[in-house]
Amino acid sequence: MSTAAYIHGVRDIRIGEITPAQADGQSAIIDIESVGICGSDLHYYKDGAIGGARIDDPFVPGHEFSGRLTSDIESMGLRRGQLVAVDPALPCHRCEWCEDGYHNLCPDVVFLGAPPYHGALTQQLKVPLQSIVPIPDTMSADQAAMLEPLGVCIHAIDLAKPRLLESVTILGCGPIGLGILQLLKLTGCGDIFAIDPQPHRTELALKLGAAQVGPSVEALLDTSGRGGSHLVIEATNSPAGFRDAVNAARIGGRVLLVGIPDGNLYDAVSAADARRRGLTIKFSRRMGNVYPRAIDLVAAGKVDVDCLVSHRFPLQGTAEAFAMQADEADGLIKSIVYPGQA
Ligand SMILES: [Zn+2]
Ligand SMILES: [Zn+2]
Repeated sequence: MSTAAYIHGVRDIRIGEITPAQADGQSAIIDIESVGICGSDLHYYKDGAIGGARIDDPFVPGHEFSGRLTSDIESMGLRRGQLVAVDPALPCHRCEWCEDGYHNLCPDVVFLGAPPYHGALTQQLKVPLQSIVPIPDTMSADQAAMLEPLGVCIHAIDLAKPRLLESVTILGCGPIGLGILQLLKLTGCGDIFAIDPQPHRTELALKLGAAQVGPSVEALLDTSGRGGSHLVIEATNSPAGFRDAVNAARIGGRVLLVGIPDGNLYDAVSAADARRRGLTIKFSRRMGNVYPRAIDLVAAGKVDVDCLVSHRFPLQGTAEAFAMQADEADGLIKSIVYPGQA
């Protein structure tokens, strides 16, 4: 038996037993080292669901993780003890979206750490061989766990297509917003405005290269449509995120929505504000084939994921970690849980 952190319902996390799975020819067992707590995990904790994805039975969250192989994988040339990251999404490879290369949109995806599939907040997990991403020796287990949220950021940049020297506004300076900020700095875009109500987050945004920061769109930008940004990337958990993004965009601008709003509803968006600006609006869903680039960016030191990790917990501290994030504790950006520590 090993132990796992289960979400039973709203604000209800308990440590319980779990039967470790046996490996077969298509999968391997890894000893979990680092697990990041994601804003999406928080929705299960706060709302008991993300839209139609509800917690019917207690489930183990955790989709941002790394670990070490417990046995050799001859077919991949990997040895026991190798540090690996795991792509939590297993698309069906058969539907029309998979066939067209949009694996992130597969409606039949199996996603580790989303109900009903258990995730990584446990000591050992069985993972499909095709989901295993070997990690260079120079990288840490925490960095490997951060590749998944960094992948979300890379996918957002792929969709946003920032242009040289155009201004960009980022709404939300959590791990995703701050990851996107670092990637934007590599693209040659213009001034970046970063917005978050929590001062410790905007302070870090300034250190990472934002031109200006503020607690709200109104505090920082002209919201008339004449002076806003060419590109607005929304990475909050706020129902007001969509509306704020529209207000932050200039006439003819583009808006990319990455965040998942609390309660699964957006606040009302003024049709006139969005329509008269002729905005192009896109939604980002998970990620495409991003792991090779995510590894290169971290290994080369072009993106600093370590600065995003603010809190660390043993498995027994999982409930505290979720509560702190739900309550927007001061100083918190990203929490990592170490299931190997009791
Ligand atoms: Zn995530
Ligand atoms: Zn599919």
